Amino acid sequence: MKKIQVTEPFLPPKEEYEKYLDGIWERNWLTNMGPLSLQLEERLKDYLGVNYVQFVANGTLGLQLAVKALGLKGEIVTTPFSYVATTSSIVWEGCEPVFADIDPNSLNIDPKKIENAISARTTAILATHVFGNPCDIDAIDNIAKKHHLKVIYDAAHCFGTMYEDKSVFCFGDISIASFHATKTFHTIEGGAVMSQDQALNEKIYHMKNFGHSGPGNFVELGINGKNSEFHAAMGLANLPYIADILEKRKSDSALYIEHLPKENIDYQVINAKAKHNFSYFPVIWHSAEVCQMITQALGAQGIYPRKYFHPSLSTLSYVEQMKCPISDDIANRILCLPLYYNLQVTEIKQITKIIKQTLKKAAQ
Ligand SMILES: *Cc1c(COP(=O)(O)O)cnc(C)c1O
Repeated sequence: MKKIQVTEPFLPPKEEYEKYLDGIWERNWLTNMGPLSLQLEERLKDYLGVNYVQFVANGTLGLQLAVKALGLKGEIVTTPFSYVATTSSIVWEGCEPVFADIDPNSLNIDPKKIENAISARTTAILATHVFGNPCDIDAIDNIAKKHHLKVIYDAAHCFGTMYEDKSVFCFGDISIASFHATKTFHTIEGGAVMSQDQALNEKIYHMKNFGHSGPGNFVELGINGKNSEFHAAMGLANLPYIADILEKRKSDSALYIEHLPKENIDYQVINAKAKHNFSYFPVIWHSAEVCQMITQALGAQGIYPRKYFHPSLSTLSYVEQMKCPISDDIANRILCLPLYYNLQVTEIKQITKIIKQTLKKAAQ
């Protein structure tokens, strides 16, 4: 029985990756802002329409660099419904996460709850555009201006997402992307830190390279956040396929919706100002029991959806626990169904058939 995981990495034709390897062997330049890394940054700037892209080792390090580059201290208001890296990077940088619950429709941080979470010690808002669905950026902007806060967007899922006809990466003081193998666009491991501000971009550039501004010159406290030529090569080989990848996810999502029952299922509501990238296919069931039944029924057939995101981050052992009932509730009854480039139409039909049968059984 072929197993179907929630995702499978995309791989370009091997020859197209190998073409880049020839150049690496000729130059013997393997890392440290080599020509392929710079070329990838340029291509990404063009493709995304952003001012600056700093290619980094991974998205998590990107979040840490963002917190550091903005000089954040004290409390950061953040979402309880995201991948653990959103919270852990705040704690790792010595700041305290303060959770504002999510909106049950968008699954993003609820701006109305952000204001209640702000104290005299708050320095920033770190919000995730969950599953590539942009937050209420205008509302978050207004709150940030009013309270003199910085804004970081964890835009790990957002490759290809637009907001008001611009890349969603253009918003906030800093947006970060993840180019991990499981993400829509990947460089095996990798990520990007994007600020539209020249001075801030320069600071991040120095910070990701130990603070070097030249041999023996250190202008900032830095870390090793660079990425390699081999990772850049994978990104360059993948980029020509991204339009196809985005299109395939869109049509697969439509196929899921067409074949899934219309009742007893909820979907994430996408921001009306956005062009979505269909990076995941989350389904919200009406109860945790049904969610469990579906997981079991699919698992019995070798199909493994994932509970993104579970647990709610406000319940982590190393944070001050806060009540976020909406996030807790959604975390218990959401599943991301398999969605990737090589997923077959027959497989989607098989998955939806099992779900229909299970929902019928649950209703009896
Ligand atoms: C994947 C992910 C990250 C971490 O990215 P890495 O590149 O794996 O470090 C951060 N936040 C969210 C929401 C993610 O899904």
